[in-house]
Amino acid sequence: MATTPIMNTYNRLSVAFDHGEGTWLYDTDGNKYLDALSGIAVCGLGHAHPAVTHAITEQASKLIHTSNLYSVPLQERLAARLTALSGMDNVFFGNSGAEANEAAIKLARRYGHQQGVDNPAIIVMEGAFHGRTLATLSATGNRAVQVGFEPLVGGFLRAPYNDVEAIRTIAANNPNVVAILVEPIQGEAGIRIPADDYLNQLRDICDDNDWLLMLDEVQTGNGRTGEYFAYQHNGILPDVVTTAKGLGNGVPIGACLARGKAAEVLTPGTHGSTYGGNPLACAAALAVVDTIQNDNLCKRARALGERICDGFREQLTGSDYVREIRNKGLMIAIELNEAGSELAVLSKVKGILLNVTGGGRVVRLLPPLTMTDGEADLLVNTLSKLIQIYAADDR
Ligand SMILES: *Cc1c(COP(=O)(O)O)cnc(C)c1O
Repeated sequence: MATTPIMNTYNRLSVAFDHGEGTWLYDTDGNKYLDALSGIAVCGLGHAHPAVTHAITEQASKLIHTSNLYSVPLQERLAARLTALSGMDNVFFGNSGAEANEAAIKLARRYGHQQGVDNPAIIVMEGAFHGRTLATLSATGNRAVQVGFEPLVGGFLRAPYNDVEAIRTIAANNPNVVAILVEPIQGEAGIRIPADDYLNQLRDICDDNDWLLMLDEVQTGNGRTGEYFAYQHNGILPDVVTTAKGLGNGVPIGACLARGKAAEVLTPGTHGSTYGGNPLACAAALAVVDTIQNDNLCKRARALGERICDGFREQLTGSDYVREIRNKGLMIAIELNEAGSELAVLSKVKGILLNVTGGGRVVRLLPPLTMTDGEADLLVNTLSKLIQIYAADDR
């Protein structure tokens, strides 16, 4: 018999939070924690950011939802902001990252059919994470999360991440391919950062083959890597880009942006969402986008990422327990030489919230873009000490 009324899909740490402010979370016993995870890259502006709080309380008192059967002016404003800052042409709004990717997958298939491809296939990567719905789970490159859910959705071809030659080989042998779906940095896999020109090379291959380049920026978007979208480091434009997490600072929203021929594929009746892009979610996201731009938070993410990683390198280099410290903006990884999953629990006890991913070997830090220098230094000092003690105890 079930022991709790919550379905048992998560192993949770034994802490519950009552409220938050900026980088800090306060538990129900009054203890405070430095949040270096931001609810998994969601609360990029920290907790209870006044601009977001103001936007959603104001909007909630006026209008929360009307459905997409009518014009939604806030949705139009948000779409205009997002297309202007991304270089894309239009947007479909859903409520999560998985839904944004579902929209992209459906778009790619329909694009394929329009090109006369009866069995369109999408290239996806080993180690990828795209969500938990059936199609996005099937696109995800991690067998462990797929087991027991077969039959998976077909139409995906798997290639190693950061391997352009593998994609060229697929291109030469598979006339059914219509798109590539790829994360600019693999987040769940352990902050895997590809070669600097990886996206540029994928862009070229897509151009040569008339494929759509579809970037999953659910985690990398919204300023996290030091540009609003990670592809902006490469000076290219994708055909489709999806985002979610940091877009609503905790209010659920997902977006699938498209450009050029990809922007024409979905037409009335081909896709939809009851809630997607409702006034409340769009008010929150507009406040987020405004704040990221007005407060120069992309630039701040770059500076803060450097400060934090320089600090870790100073304190942890030479430790034979630490294999590598790497980052792009505020996607920060401390890769260990062996599994260290307990570090999530131990750091919680020390008042730091983080997450261990990449098979238990990568300490993943996704701090808010609004973190102060003092908080960053506290994070570096506390966590470095903890890792040193843990490494010493461990052997
Ligand atoms: C979190 C994540 C998703 C899934 O987003 P949900 O909102 O949980 O559905 C998809 N892709 C990437 C890259 C993610 O990090």
